Amino acid sequence: MILVDVHAHLDFPEFDKDLKQVLQRAKNAGMAAVISQGVHHASNKKTLELAAQHDIVQAALGLYPLNAPNVVVPEEENDDYDRSTVGVDETLKFIRQHAKEIVAIGEVGIDLQFSDDEKNQVNNFTKILQLSNAVKKPVIIHSRKAEKLVLDLLEDAKHKQAVLHCYGGGKKLIKRAVEMNLPLTVTSNAQRAQHFQMVAREVPLSQLLTETDAPLLGPVVGERNEPQNVQHAIDVIAKQKGLSAQEVARNVYMNYQRIFL
Ligand SMILES: [Zn+2]
Repeated sequence: MILVDVHAHLDFPEFDKDLKQVLQRAKNAGMAAVISQGVHHASNKKTLELAAQHDIVQAALGLYPLNAPNVVVPEEENDDYDRSTVGVDETLKFIRQHAKEIVAIGEVGIDLQFSDDEKNQVNNFTKILQLSNAVKKPVIIHSRKAEKLVLDLLEDAKHKQAVLHCYGGGKKLIKRAVEMNLPLTVTSNAQRAQHFQMVAREVPLSQLLTETDAPLLGPVVGERNEPQNVQHAIDVIAKQKGLSAQEVARNVYMNYQRIFL
């Protein structure tokens, strides 16, 4: 079976010791590609190196909303985020310079759960959408507690090249996203997350992608996640749609090719 993981963080320290083995396991499971997401300037640089070193790793370069140096994050949350010292414009310039080496711009987006600085986040996101248009690479969007806002912003910008990662919106918003022709992901923790079972049911197969968000969102609470676990997302989609895992995997792979290659 052919598998793709469109959202992982292989540059995170959790993979420092054994990334080679992790990727070998992914290959053995049938993985054709893992899109590793940069979250700030240093993370972007490391992501490019990983993509150059490992054949199944594809690079997405981005700026996680809470890592942007101009976004106000409450002090109690500050320690959880690696606040970049490199400015937003410089980070975006680097992404533009390396556009030929990447398949997407991510992880980017808006997070109003851990920061209420909507103004700066929207400003940054708007610049990122312009960059995505200019270099013709899709954005991979994080939208925690900003599920409606990102749809509004995409609509206002008439922006079509976007993937909704780990989308938390309810049925109504999911329906709207589907009508906007946006792809949505099902995650590797979907067997224990009813929300993503609902996503698997509501979103047409032609708009579904699979991801792990590894090292996060694993099938087992508290255990490090890794790309081969994307198999669990395939199983959930297969169950919800009443299809074979093979058929789901084949369709998700076609979606991946259409969106990213
Ligand atoms: Zn992520």
